[in-house]
Amino acid sequence: MHRSRPALNNNSLWAATAANNVAFPALTEDMTADTVIIGAGMSGLSTALHLAETNQNVVVLEARTPGFGASGQSGGQVIAGLRHFKSDLAKVYGEEKGAQAHAFGGAAAQATFDIIKRHNIDCDAINTGWIQVADSDTALSESEARVAAWQLLGAPVRMLSRDETIALTGTQDYLGGWIDERGGSLQPLSYTLGLAQRAAALGARIFTNSPAISVHHDGVMWQVKSAHGIVRAKSLLLATNALSDGLWPGLRQMILPVWSFQIATAPLSESDRQHILPGRQAVSDTRRVLRYFRVDRDHRVIVGGKGTMFAPKNAGDFRLQQTMLERLYPQLADMPIEYRWGGEVAVTIGRLPRVLRLGPNGYASLGCNGKGVAWCSALGAPLAEMLTTGNEDVLPIPVSQVAPIPFHALRSIYVAIGSSWLRLRDAMDHPSLHGGETTSKSNKGS
Ligand SMILES: Cc1cc2nc3c(=O)[nH]c(=O)nc-3n(C[C@H](O)[C@H](O)[C@H](O)COP(=O)(O)OP(=O)(O)OC[C@H]3O[C@@H](n4cnc5c(N)ncnc54)[C@H](O)[C@@H]3O)c2cc1C
Repeated sequence: MHRSRPALNNNSLWAATAANNVAFPALTEDMTADTVIIGAGMSGLSTALHLAETNQNVVVLEARTPGFGASGQSGGQVIAGLRHFKSDLAKVYGEEKGAQAHAFGGAAAQATFDIIKRHNIDCDAINTGWIQVADSDTALSESEARVAAWQLLGAPVRMLSRDETIALTGTQDYLGGWIDERGGSLQPLSYTLGLAQRAAALGARIFTNSPAISVHHDGVMWQVKSAHGIVRAKSLLLATNALSDGLWPGLRQMILPVWSFQIATAPLSESDRQHILPGRQAVSDTRRVLRYFRVDRDHRVIVGGKGTMFAPKNAGDFRLQQTMLERLYPQLADMPIEYRWGGEVAVTIGRLPRVLRLGPNGYASLGCNGKGVAWCSALGAPLAEMLTTGNEDVLPIPVSQVAPIPFHALRSIYVAIGSSWLRLRDAMDHPSLHGGETTSKSNKGS
């Protein structure tokens, strides 16, 4: 059953500046397709686009509109790689698949820019690099290890001294960092809508305001039911991420949906532009309460980080982001905040993305944690190939089974007692529960 969601009390910069706004109809009749995809975010739409490129007959059902989920709310930072070292992935997936997953992640940012270029998607994409800034000696050491590991593979990454970090970011708040030239940023809603537009132009049939309310395999075909029509298809992809509902038993219990909020200032003055992110790199830090920040095409500063436990209700819910902004750029303390919005990140155990087998040629893909822009975009190609050929080996990660997080049932209790909710989130990284929402503990990656 589709979990009905209230409209977000969002004042999103991305909604205000989106290109590629096209209207799609609701599903009002029965139809058949090669593949049916549920969810029109970057995962579902990149897959649909790649299927449409090879003349596959694809139908996409979206409960709201393309980009309603994390894809349209995100920070739009295009980040190469997962947060895991190659050795971490080898431990989970084995040597060969671990190396494949690591290499795929490393190439995911370029794959995203390639999709944008190939389809000429207007989304303010810039390949200016992604910087991870470090706030502690521990985090700096980890950055050095990360840079050494990527350099071994020939990736264009390097350490930044404190002075270089200040020159590139304009904030004095960090000890140093590293830059990954593969990364950059884009307008995430324009990009998601652009994927939808291009997929539709190549023949994908996209239906909005059409939540899937039941899914089953009848022995021959998948049948996906919406209020006013049924789609029958040989293969199925569920791409509902943090907004997964009760549609497939156990799926929602595989993730913790965690709110992340962002604010955007008024455009910077000419003189501030010379000092604050003059090269327009995207930045994330290593604090446990992660901050991520960038400027948009109009030189607004966007700062994001941990939201409250529920959807934002009013400007007061964005106090933490305001504090982050003032800490990063004290000179902007009185700068008007023109946009405030939030979205839900799908956090998985081990912070690993998942592709799950649901039945014959039926899969779910979810859990990109905070690094889905590049990963979800890049994964569209192998997902499309797998859905067409049935060959699971084309994926960079192994396909697994739906297996709910063991303590997920306690989620509502943790939410009720507040601070323990953070410990539950920490436990997704580590086997044992521990506290310490401090600056000294590195968040390992993004
Ligand atoms: C605030 C925020 C900031 C982020 N910043 C970054 C960043 O800077 N860089 C980065 O790499 N990653 C970032 N992420 C993560 C990234 O945005 C996600 O990993 C990625 O967008 C996930 O895309 P998706 O298509 O899998 O899911 P989503 O975009 O969430 O799409 C799921 C879709 O499924 C639909 N749906 C749900 N149920 C049904 C149903 N029953 N029937 C039909 N449709 C349904 C939803 O309406 C939704 O449109 C951020 C996430 C958030 C929330």
